[in-house]
Amino acid sequence: MTTLLISDPLFLDHSMPAGHPERPDRLRAVEKALNDSRFAGLLREGAAEGELDLAMLVHPEDYVREIAGHAPQEGLAFLDADTSMSPGSLPAVMAAMGSGRRAVGAVMSGEFANAFVAARPPGHHAMRETAMGFCLFNTMAVMARLAQKGGASRVAIVDWDVHHGNGTQDIFWADKDVLFVSSHEMPLYPGTGAKDERGEHGSIVNVPLRAGDDGVTFRDAFESIVFPRVIAHRPDIILISAGFDAHRRDPLGNLRLEARDYAWATERLMTIAAKMCGGRIVSLLEGGYDLEGLSTSVAAHVETLMGA
Ligand SMILES: [Zn+2]
Repeated sequence: MTTLLISDPLFLDHSMPAGHPERPDRLRAVEKALNDSRFAGLLREGAAEGELDLAMLVHPEDYVREIAGHAPQEGLAFLDADTSMSPGSLPAVMAAMGSGRRAVGAVMSGEFANAFVAARPPGHHAMRETAMGFCLFNTMAVMARLAQKGGASRVAIVDWDVHHGNGTQDIFWADKDVLFVSSHEMPLYPGTGAKDERGEHGSIVNVPLRAGDDGVTFRDAFESIVFPRVIAHRPDIILISAGFDAHRRDPLGNLRLEARDYAWATERLMTIAAKMCGGRIVSLLEGGYDLEGLSTSVAAHVETLMGA
């Protein structure tokens, strides 16, 4: 069984202000890393078409229309101090959601063992009615809803981005069928993600880590909290909000993970997925702002996925 990789030059067309860390070069670095011969076995596809209606699976229609209305014909339109749109942003976010739909559908149907979607912009800070933290629509949340529509009644989302996935937490706060587990540095942007934030049915699990924590602490937290909660949820699919900004080189976080820590977490989740849900895993790129840390981490993650 093969791993599906979705990437596309149109994700480069979402431009940000000069000097912004969430820049198109991130995806170029990922592409370069995945062009190595050891990734020859990947099945590669360009972005799948998506439409605004996909965002309405998790955001109110008014919000979706408002964001779409902000898209500028030229230059940049700011939604908050660090979140903006360029002319290429709307096509990029729609394609990210469409690619998420394609990846989830392909893994749910058994066409592929698992999938990695290398898209921009990231989405896990986008709350039901608020764009923030470089995020416009919550692509991961859309993917979880699509998985449910495609027959996965119980979904587990594991978010190991260094920042708390506050948007995903907001969207699934009262949904007992979607487990949301987030490991993140705390305190750090956006300030949420304390252990006592558990959701209405206890299906939100926050695993805050401290500045300076390394792979040992990360692995301990995953062994003692993340994996047991995922197993207890009995998911029909595991989705990964795969940010790589907990890497030791990353300028936006202060954790000290190495690429091999992401390979380890990937491998352990694959073992759990193999036992619980036919190995079904779909991973979506979120953050990761040091080009070397990002590309080596993505390579370790995807190479591990290919071992399914
Ligand atoms: Zn992040």
